[in-house]
Amino acid sequence: MARTQVVIVGGGPSGLLLGQLLFKAGIEAVVLERKTREYVLGRIRAGVLERGLVGLMGEAGVDTRMKAEGFVHDGTQLAYDGDMFRVDFTAHTDATVMVYGQTEVTRDLYDARAATGGDTRFEVDNVVIHDADTDAPFVTFDQNGTAQRIDCDYIAGCDGFHGISRKTIPAFVRREYEKVYPFGWLGILSETPPVNHELIYANSDRGFALCSMRNAQLSRYYIQCDVDDHVGNWSDDAFWDELRRRIPAAAAETLVTGPSIEKSIAPLRSFVTEPMRWGRLFLCGDAAHIVPPTGAKGLNTAASDVHYLNQGLRQFYGDGDSRGLDTYSEKALARVWKTERFSWWFSNLMHHYPSQSDFDKKMQLAELAFLRDSPEAQAAMALNYVGLPY
Ligand SMILES: Cc1cc2nc3c(=O)[nH]c(=O)nc-3n(C[C@H](O)[C@H](O)[C@H](O)COP(=O)(O)OP(=O)(O)OC[C@H]3O[C@@H](n4cnc5c(N)ncnc54)[C@H](O)[C@@H]3O)c2cc1C
Repeated sequence: MARTQVVIVGGGPSGLLLGQLLFKAGIEAVVLERKTREYVLGRIRAGVLERGLVGLMGEAGVDTRMKAEGFVHDGTQLAYDGDMFRVDFTAHTDATVMVYGQTEVTRDLYDARAATGGDTRFEVDNVVIHDADTDAPFVTFDQNGTAQRIDCDYIAGCDGFHGISRKTIPAFVRREYEKVYPFGWLGILSETPPVNHELIYANSDRGFALCSMRNAQLSRYYIQCDVDDHVGNWSDDAFWDELRRRIPAAAAETLVTGPSIEKSIAPLRSFVTEPMRWGRLFLCGDAAHIVPPTGAKGLNTAASDVHYLNQGLRQFYGDGDSRGLDTYSEKALARVWKTERFSWWFSNLMHHYPSQSDFDKKMQLAELAFLRDSPEAQAAMALNYVGLPY
């Protein structure tokens, strides 16, 4: 039996960022991760960091590589009807975003945790949270076939959508809100230069497409696909052909193609559970909410939860003030719902819905034209894209 101040369930970006921020404040934490470090680093996910997450990386002392290798973007391109327009972030806000892969964020956090001697347990099984609604919570798990127990003050549930933390909160306490979208995203990673120096979000009659990147020689492209489609149905050539048909001709002509080094299909979902706190258990990131990836809010919203929880724990351990922890759920959810709204709005604007009528399509085109022509509408989009303040 062991004891620590905070047990963090899940060694993804939420859990690792929280662990590093707590370390900076002198608060002890143990991270429990079900998979290996290599497995976690092999997951290709988000790539655009809001200003808030960029700031937290600095606060956690892990921003050296990000600053050297990341790419600052001060605008994005929206394409429709064969044409393209730009939303300029710095014309409307005082902020930019950083293109730096989730894999790199996670690698930097793992390296920092190892360098500071942080206690991270990999390949743990059967994690169970006990007595979270009492003053003496504890967590049990199996590691290398041995049953273990850690007593603690608080538990951070950072174990993603399929984790056990959310389900620890009794069903009669939880209220869940969900919208499942009738399409998925087929994504590929290729060692080719990006087609454009900024992201291109494209609405086309054939469905949505996104041209994104990780660096000058690594591109990430997505096309909207059927929700029950399979990766095996898509050769690289078929993917590139379809992408070319969905982006403006000028971009399609300069697209450099190559073999994919990763190819996957992600379903699209909006999901929120309330509350995000139950007793001494606090949910962070995908454990509490999911957004469709349009607008790159998943990882960033996880980071804002981490910020609020870190503040609350620092306040508590610093001067015994529990107000930050007591208001964690309300504060986190207030921002979560705003980013849910933005991701939902942007998804609705850019995708082709199977049930879409001609009228619905005209509404999308009218809204895109309004966004193209209205500085005020662009300001609202820019403000959301760079990230709402914490
Ligand atoms: C395929 C895909 C593509 C995505 N693309 C984008 C994108 O382009 N832009 C964007 O902003 N967001 C994207 N997201 C969302 C973004 O990646 C997530 O919001 C982000 O990973 C959330 O971090 P997290 O740490 O909260 O959860 P996770 O990254 O899910 O990490 C949770 C961790 O907990 C571990 N775990 C789970 N259960 C247990 C358990 N019982 N015990 C111990 N450990 C456990 C898991 O192994 C995992 O390492 C994508 C997500 C997916 C799935």
